[in-house]
Amino acid sequence: MSFKREVIQGQEVVSTEITDDIYDLPHEECGLIGLWNQKQAAFDAYYGLHALQHRGQEGAGIATLHDGKMLAHRDFGLVNQIFNRRQSLEELKGKAAIGHVRYATAGLNDINNIQPFVFHFHDGPVAMAHNGNLVNAHSLKVELEQKGSIFHTTSDSEVIMHLIRRSQKESFIEKLKESLKRVVGGFTYLFLTEKELIGVCDPNGFRPLIVGRMPNGGYVMASESCALDQIGASYLFDVEPGQIVSINNEGIQKEYYTEARQQAICSMEFIYFARPDSNIHGINVHTARKNSGKKLAQEQPVEADIVIGVPNSSLSAASGYAEEAGIPYEMGLIKNQYIARTFIQPTQELRERGVRMKLSAVRKVVEGKRIVMVDDSIVRGTTSKRIVGLLKAAGAKEVHVRIASPALKHPCFYGIDISNTRELIAANHTLKEIEKIIEADSLAYLSEEGLISAIDLHSDAPYKGLCMAYFNGDYPTALHDFEREYRAELERIVVD
Ligand code: SF4
Repeated sequence: MSFKREVIQGQEVVSTEITDDIYDLPHEECGLIGLWNQKQAAFDAYYGLHALQHRGQEGAGIATLHDGKMLAHRDFGLVNQIFNRRQSLEELKGKAAIGHVRYATAGLNDINNIQPFVFHFHDGPVAMAHNGNLVNAHSLKVELEQKGSIFHTTSDSEVIMHLIRRSQKESFIEKLKESLKRVVGGFTYLFLTEKELIGVCDPNGFRPLIVGRMPNGGYVMASESCALDQIGASYLFDVEPGQIVSINNEGIQKEYYTEARQQAICSMEFIYFARPDSNIHGINVHTARKNSGKKLAQEQPVEADIVIGVPNSSLSAASGYAEEAGIPYEMGLIKNQYIARTFIQPTQELRERGVRMKLSAVRKVVEGKRIVMVDDSIVRGTTSKRIVGLLKAAGAKEVHVRIASPALKHPCFYGIDISNTRELIAANHTLKEIEKIIEADSLAYLSEEGLISAIDLHSDAPYKGLCMAYFNGDYPTALHDFEREYRAELERIVVD
């Protein structure tokens, strides 16, 4: 491992470049925003998507409803690259819009997979945007194709629209309700029709969806509350598991489409995905992370001189650890992310190499110190090893790695890009082996109970309303198309 020594703003730092292919954090799949009765809705969708950019950087799009027509613009790239001219937003006329940012692992080269999807039916246009993943998409696709459906994308998002169009029910909402009973997985959807904006949450509520009110009386729905803050909307409520929320000129209607529902919010939303200033079901993400750091300090204390966090998502947990342990919190690591993505690159590998993050350790801060390095999670272990090495190259005496979540041992099938155990270091190695691989002086994780009480969702559901499947394999739904594959993979998991 080689590191670069340089002086930045008078400080001697030791730096390393971390490309996306070794920056081993799981990736969220998407972020959604929808607006109703808002003048020039595309502009608010644009600013809202900016706030949701961390949920997906591969592509983005906005669709608007204007004079009974659906207008749309979508492309590969970041939101400000796609809508880099005011004109491109002005052309998206209308008082209703939905927008989408996408992270994807499959079908990347196909512009058809960038959302929102727009369908021009004889009885009116529909735009839709989807966040998450269906576990029975493949079987449904096979069934629908046998009945004559023709799919235009490789994304599973299209399945729901085919189900809706085949339904014999009268209204769009009734067709949608019937179709939602057939799809299984983690999902939120937004639909825009001539009559309404509709938001849907799966029966376990894996992914957040928030409803807010615009200052002029219009409405907004978004994947995170930070998007509402960005556009000056006030919070109204979180969409509940198994709920459909429709907004039209009469106001807001809420109803459940299934009796079989429980709360199982993806715990990784709190640990890593969501922005720290977002609130999910009343719990602030920064506060949950800080609490997890405090619990970690109680459960896994260590003698040290300073606590540092791995930027950016671990800084809240690190500050909690330091506060609880009474050890000074220092900025020992600095992140400089410069994005040089080239979206015309033909392969995923080349594209990933275009995303580089420079991480620097400040020698004056870390030299000769016993360090607690707090990180939010370890997926493959490659980044942890590199950062431990970086701190030692900058003179750290000891590096004790503390992870503010339990060990990731099971794949996610609900919209995160880790879908097999081969990629998870904790599924293949014991704690002591991982400690050795990442060359840490010690390694310890937060317990499941610690995480659950740190987030402290007020829920009577199992695990207090969280999905903990990544850690314990207790999936809130049947796995359908993935069941056989997962059972085979279980053999690989090493239990400490
Ligand atoms: S398995 Fe993990 S990443 Fe997937 S929804 Fe559950 S907690 Fe979230």
